[in-house]
Amino acid sequence: MPFKPSPNIGKNKAGVPLNLTPQYLIQHFDAAANATGAISWMLSPKSKVSAHLHIDREGNITQLVAFNRIAHHAGESEWRGLFGMNSRSIGIEIQNTGSQDYTAKQMDAVAEVSKLLVSYYNLKEVIGHEDVAPIRKNDPSGTKVNLFDWAGLLIVCGLAPSTKATTADLNIRRGQGTQFPVVTKIPKGDAVFELNRIGTWSKIQVVGSNQSGWVSNAYLTKAI
Ligand SMILES: [Zn+2]
Repeated sequence: MPFKPSPNIGKNKAGVPLNLTPQYLIQHFDAAANATGAISWMLSPKSKVSAHLHIDREGNITQLVAFNRIAHHAGESEWRGLFGMNSRSIGIEIQNTGSQDYTAKQMDAVAEVSKLLVSYYNLKEVIGHEDVAPIRKNDPSGTKVNLFDWAGLLIVCGLAPSTKATTADLNIRRGQGTQFPVVTKIPKGDAVFELNRIGTWSKIQVVGSNQSGWVSNAYLTKAI
């Protein structure tokens, strides 16, 4: 795949690039109308942003930052009590205006490269910008939190989510807590994949759809 080095990487005060030892993989959408614009933006020093990879709607992958360097994709971010996820993660920008379905070609490319990265770097989790900055960001799942097939991706990456059932009508929220807005409701008895669990909150995806979000895990059965 082509490598177009972005100048927007983590450096110390003397301008020496900082090393990255990735533990997580963070998925994004680029919110751009075309791949050329999104890639040019990440190559411009003005933007101060970058990602390790960009994947266009044809499934073409462009590398912008080496995997042992820090890309500027997550901004202010937190996951499992860890802050500043740029210094802990590889970031992938997937071409999508934010309201489109992902194409099969690009999701195949996302899955293939994610599987390789998880395996090679022994990454702990594959998560979204929406998970590490839920107040600011809704990528890659979008406003209705139904664009991205998390369960399908996790299964390909060998991070198979467990299957559970809801024991009550449940609110699906945008983030971990009742302070986050309800995106939709699902009825008692629905089958869900539990993608991630943090304390009393779980990110779930409704089986048979891409609808995902956070629920109180007091209302999920044990594995069925
Ligand atoms: Zn993002």
